[in-house]
Amino acid sequence: MPLILFQLFCARLGLQTLVLEKASDLRAGGAALTIWRNAWRALDVLGVGEELRNQYYLLAGSHVVSLQGKVIHQLSFGNCSRGGLNEVRAIERSALLEALAKPLPAGTIRFKSKVVNVRKGTKKTYNEVELEDGTIIASKVLVGCDGVRSEVAKSLGVKEPSFVGQCAIRGVADYPAGHDYGSMLLQFLGRGSRAGVVPISSTKVYWFVCFKSSSAVVRKVEPEVLKQEALEHLKSWCKKNLEEFSSLIENSPNHTVTRSALRHRWSLPLVSPSLAADGITLAGDALHPITPNLGQGGCLALEDGVILARELYNAVFARKSMNAEDMDTNIKCALDAYAKQRWYRFFPLTVKSFFIGFLSMLELWPVIYARDSFGVKVALQPDRFLKHTLYDCGELPIPS
Ligand SMILES: Cc1cc2nc3c(=O)[nH]c(=O)nc-3n(C[C@H](O)[C@H](O)[C@H](O)COP(=O)(O)OP(=O)(O)OC[C@H]3O[C@@H](n4cnc5c(N)ncnc54)[C@H](O)[C@@H]3O)c2cc1C
Repeated sequence: MPLILFQLFCARLGLQTLVLEKASDLRAGGAALTIWRNAWRALDVLGVGEELRNQYYLLAGSHVVSLQGKVIHQLSFGNCSRGGLNEVRAIERSALLEALAKPLPAGTIRFKSKVVNVRKGTKKTYNEVELEDGTIIASKVLVGCDGVRSEVAKSLGVKEPSFVGQCAIRGVADYPAGHDYGSMLLQFLGRGSRAGVVPISSTKVYWFVCFKSSSAVVRKVEPEVLKQEALEHLKSWCKKNLEEFSSLIENSPNHTVTRSALRHRWSLPLVSPSLAADGITLAGDALHPITPNLGQGGCLALEDGVILARELYNAVFARKSMNAEDMDTNIKCALDAYAKQRWYRFFPLTVKSFFIGFLSMLELWPVIYARDSFGVKVALQPDRFLKHTLYDCGELPIPS
């Protein structure tokens, strides 16, 4: 996703770029993503915000609902004192990918191209990427956007993200005749589980159930089994909450239902390997695997695309004359600057998201009581809770 965004900018500059994708087409599954103000900014910078905005609901706010079905906290996205309206919409993942890929020149995305190895190339090419079919591709700049299990991250010596002991099942319910969920994001806090309902459009509603799990192994399981598993985790909830979810789950076409193990990585400066070296860097989940409790993984990935494009443009393409050596130095500086900027952005969010996940999975009744009585109100105070969405990734230079 961030790479496609980056490519869009490169296409505008007339630069030769290539996206290597192991799948045979753009991934249609993956349910939906909640896109917050900070990511709308990134989408607008590339001119694809408006097209998506027109298809998806503007969410008015969020209700936090207890196990007993009581609304324990309300949050309005419209009246944040800082930054004004907080634009929040859930959008289908497939629509996001399509909107980003559509303006790219034909052939920019090369499907069925699984990267199996990354190695140092000659002085001229920096690095070489080996594909599953044996093809070798040389590149000056390699950006690994290959998700949580990134091959490119491995080549930098970055360790695999760790499983946080939680899994999530997600789906998108279809109501061809319309639904009556309105435009509020509903968050249900349970005991060892949490769930959410996010209206996407007049006919679609995204839902998710997160729960504790001892195993990160995600086997290929039939969607019907996943639906049952999701309901199983909600069975101690009050009748009203359970009925609400049963209907959503029943109305979800099988292809929209997926299960994921939740992972994150705490990259620490001086301790963890560098996130940029030898013309290689990372973006998206490969750079910052984060638990989904803030709904920010994809949003951060979109910011990455804009910032990386700007750093490279300013360091390399905006300069009029440059010899090969200067070019190497400038690329190195640009990638280092990008990795550093992004660390300051994603690290605090990785920590915040983990703690929100921890609080929402509590199991001891007295602690749950304290959380639901006053903890939620303190933690979800809008100006504090939504502060990270004020982040502005900035503009992209206009190529001359
Ligand atoms: C339960 C859950 C809920 C979430 N909710 C939200 C939300 O509401 N809002 C939000 O912003 N984020 C959310 N996220 C996070 C979001 O899904 C990710 O941050 C986002 O998908 C990251 O995009 P990416 O392109 O970096 O990685 P991915 O989406 O994982 O894409 C990686 C791509 O690389 C390809 N690839 C992988 N390996 C190779 C290889 N070796 N060679 C070639 N290609 C390869 C894959 O096929 C894939 O197309 C959620 C995540 C989960 C698990």
